[in-house]
Amino acid sequence: MDEFEIIRRYFARESSGEGIRVGIGDDGAVLIPSRDCDLISVVDTLVSGIHFPETLAPADIGYRAVAVNLSDIAAMGARPRWMTLALTLANVEPVWLDGFARGLFEAADEHALALVGGDTTRGEQTVISVQIIADVDTGKAMLRAGAQPGDAIYVTGTVGDAAAGLSILQSGLPRSDDVDYLIRQFTRPAARIEAGAAIASIAHAAIDLSDGLYADLEKLLLASGVAGSLELADIPLSSQLTNLMHEDDALRFALAGGDDYELCFTASAAEDKIADIGESAGVAITRLGQVLEGSGLKCTRNGDEYDYQDAGYRHFN
Ligand code: ADP
Ligand code: MG
Repeated sequence: MDEFEIIRRYFARESSGEGIRVGIGDDGAVLIPSRDCDLISVVDTLVSGIHFPETLAPADIGYRAVAVNLSDIAAMGARPRWMTLALTLANVEPVWLDGFARGLFEAADEHALALVGGDTTRGEQTVISVQIIADVDTGKAMLRAGAQPGDAIYVTGTVGDAAAGLSILQSGLPRSDDVDYLIRQFTRPAARIEAGAAIASIAHAAIDLSDGLYADLEKLLLASGVAGSLELADIPLSSQLTNLMHEDDALRFALAGGDDYELCFTASAAEDKIADIGESAGVAITRLGQVLEGSGLKCTRNGDEYDYQDAGYRHFN
């Protein structure tokens, strides 16, 4: 099967999305931006064996490749519109490609996101780059910078589940409902698009959690030029996670684990207003810290100072 056959068979669907003058098939996609909007562009690359286990189901790989990018869009408070896919394949296996494309379109269709182009090549290992272009009302994108001393720090959903799920996938714990739940949080992360759009009106700063709560919150604080405190006892942990392990281990996954794709943000709005936003977006929002003057991120556990040494995921060490 050559490159063109792969594109035709697996990726060149009738584009259902709006704002497409020319989709797959020409030298470039021709897109129609909405009036009074800024465009947001994100790209994330998944390398086989590094960002996902080679044995992961191809549909899960396709789903994740889109979902991790959607999460960046969610963190900007934007609406996903168009996507391109750069695919490097070590082998051309129809069963793999079929599953991969199914997972990819499943994640895209949940948000009316259209695949409008890409690139297909052969290489030593499977590398998947997805780019998404989104839009947001002019000047309204949420940024990492903007947190103010006095803001509360919030997170959506629960944290630590996906990292625990990946660790279980790799160690092969016997299956149970709790185990399956955690694995699914890794294989099928739900990007918080609705929550991101909903909090955009009140958040001063936001980031999505891909490298671990501690490391990502540190990035937000650094970008904002402020300090923060994080109360470990307030970190929302799922019952599935705490059923399976001691709280100390659950907290380690939550702080350093990564792959959560929840949103962390700061705001000074009333707590009941924030709870309402969570309810309308279908996700719990939990307060777990405070923005302070200065720099750095300090942890407390039940009010006592807690010396946490972060080992969050970094690409080059
Ligand atoms: P070019 O040589 O001009 O870069 P290609 O022959 O590589 O174009 O690609 C042909 C068309 O197929 C282009 O519109 C390109 O965007 C699209 N395309 C290539 N690979 C993919 C892919 N994996 N998914 C979606 N569209 C793709
Ligand atoms: Mg060309």
